[in-house]
Amino acid sequence: MEGGCNCGAIRYRIEGEPAVVAACHCQRCRRQSGSMYSVNLVVSPSAFTMEGQPKVFEDRDTTSGEPVFREFCGDCGSPIRSILGSNADIIAVKAGTLDDPDPYAPALHVFTRSRVAWVEIPEGTPQFDANPG
Ligand SMILES: [Zn+2]
Ligand SMILES: [Zn+2]
Repeated sequence: MEGGCNCGAIRYRIEGEPAVVAACHCQRCRRQSGSMYSVNLVVSPSAFTMEGQPKVFEDRDTTSGEPVFREFCGDCGSPIRSILGSNADIIAVKAGTLDDPDPYAPALHVFTRSRVAWVEIPEGTPQFDANPG
């Protein structure tokens, strides 16, 4: 699957299917996305290839205490990928930047303790107060 930013400076490709698709309601994702939550494709770093050079915000206001490197297009501002200082085995790709996000409804919702009151989570979808596990 492929995706990219609004201006076209950044394009990426993901080989295979994501391990999971998770909606994150934390305030940091909210601000970065400009929306009420962020939908993330959790994938292996080796499955992800990118053309173009993103800007990086080193986000140190995290619950793990480890930084999250939030990559975005420096020209148009689209958020692209987060690299987790706490877990080198996974990256989070912003699902809204996929060319075709239709198949990737969130399988679970995380940091629902920060959920905005009017955001409804579909019944039966697993929810986690913070991170699962
Ligand atoms: Zn761009
Ligand atoms: Zn988040």
